[in-house]
Amino acid sequence: MNIKAPKGTKDIVPSEINDWYNIENAAKEVFTKADFKEIRTPIFEDTALFERGVGDTTDIVNKEMYTFIKSDRSLTLRPENTAGVVRAYLEHNMFRESAPVKLWYKGPMFRYERPQAGRQRQFHQVGVEMFGIQDASADAECIMLAVDFLNKLGLNDLTVEINSLGCNVCRKEYKERLKDAIAPFLDGLCDDCKSRYEKNPLRILDCKNEECNKLFDKYNLKESVSGIKLCDECSSHYEKLKKYLNELNIKYEENTFLVRGLDYYTKTVFEIKSNSLGSQNAVCGGGRYDGLVETLGGPHTPAVGFAMGMERLKALLPSIEADKITFFVVSDNQLEAVKLTSKLRHKGYSCEYDYNSRKFAKQIEKASKTAKYAVIIGEDEIKNNYYTVKNLSDSTQEKMSFDELCML
Ligand code: ATP
Ligand code: MG
Repeated sequence: MNIKAPKGTKDIVPSEINDWYNIENAAKEVFTKADFKEIRTPIFEDTALFERGVGDTTDIVNKEMYTFIKSDRSLTLRPENTAGVVRAYLEHNMFRESAPVKLWYKGPMFRYERPQAGRQRQFHQVGVEMFGIQDASADAECIMLAVDFLNKLGLNDLTVEINSLGCNVCRKEYKERLKDAIAPFLDGLCDDCKSRYEKNPLRILDCKNEECNKLFDKYNLKESVSGIKLCDECSSHYEKLKKYLNELNIKYEENTFLVRGLDYYTKTVFEIKSNSLGSQNAVCGGGRYDGLVETLGGPHTPAVGFAMGMERLKALLPSIEADKITFFVVSDNQLEAVKLTSKLRHKGYSCEYDYNSRKFAKQIEKASKTAKYAVIIGEDEIKNNYYTVKNLSDSTQEKMSFDELCML
C-alpha cells in the first residue's frame, strides 16, 4: 500500500517550519500592536452557515465545499473564516462589547479546487475582522494593517486595488445596466454566468472562464457599463477612504471591476497583488460586509476584514534555515551526558546528546551539524569537575565551569 497525502494538500516539514513561524509571528506582532485579539474557531461548521454567510451564487458554495453528513447533520470544512468568526461573534455576544471588536485568526481552509501553483485544496489563511465601525476609518485600518504586515515580512512590491460596490440601492441600478449590456451575448456565456445573470449579475465580472472573458472583450463589456454610480453616502464613504489612504501614503489603484468572489461585500472591496507572483498573484482579499452579521441572525453591525493566503506569502519569501541548538553534549559516559543535558535544558538552553553513545568522532560530527557548541565530558573533565567547550563555528576550545557555560 502506498498512501500519499491527498491531492491538493501538502505536509509542512521541519525544514520549512521557520518560514511558517516567521509569517505567523509577524502577523501576531503587527495585529496585536493594532489591538486585534486572536480568535480560533472550529475547522468545520454547519453547512448552512456557509450557504447563508458566503452566499449561494459563489464558486465556494456551489463547487468548492467539502461537505459531509454525520448523525443527519450536514457539516462543512471551512472554506474561509469570516462566516465562522461572525458566528462566534454572535454566539459569544461580542456585539454587546463596545465597538470596535477587532479579531484576527490564522489556520487551514479547505476548497475543492483544481490544484496548481498557488492553489491547494487545504491551504492556510491569516486574516482580520473588525466589527462595529461604520466610518471609512475602519476600512483604512484594515488596508493599513494588511500593508504593514506585508511590509513587515519584507514584501514591498505590491499593488493595492480598491473599489466600492456601493449599497443595495447603488447596486440595483448597476445590476440592471450590467444585465442590459450582457443580454446580447448571454447565450454564449458559461452555465455559471447564466445562473449568476438572474441571481447576482455582478459576479459575472469575476468569471475566470476564458470563453466568457473573450466575449466580455468582444462586446466591450467593461468599457460600456463603466463602474457603479454610487449614492451620496457610499460615494462620500469611498472618498473618505481614499483620503485616509493618501494621508497614510498607501499607494492604491482604483479598479472599478473588482467585485471579489464572495456575496457579502458592501461598499469597499480591495485586493493586494504581488508583482512578483505568477498567475495566482492575489495575496490578500478583503472588504466591508455591513449586512453579514444581520444575515446570520445578529443585530445590524457594520464590519470589514481581509484574508491572506499564507502559502502565497511563503512563496514570495526567501526560506529561512533551520535553527541550530545551543549545546550538544559529547561523552562516552551516558549518565553524565544526560544529566548535563537535563540541567542545561532546565536553565533554558536547547541541548542534545548522543542516545547511542557512539564513538567520540561520530558524536563531534553530529554536534557540528546540529549545534553551536559541543560540551565534552571526558574522564579528566569528570575527575577535575570542568567541561571542555568547543565552539563549532571556529573550532576553538575552552575549559569551563557550569556557570561559565551558562554565560555563553
Ligand atoms: P483567487 O481569485 O485566487 O481564487 P479568492 O478570491 O478565491 O482568490 P479569497 O477567498 O478572497 O480568495 O481568499 C483570500 C486569499 O486566500 C487569496 O487572495 C489567496 O491568497 C488565498 N487563497 C484562496 N484560495 C486559495 C487556494 N485554493 N490555495 C491557496 N491560497 C488560496
Ligand atoms: Mg477562489
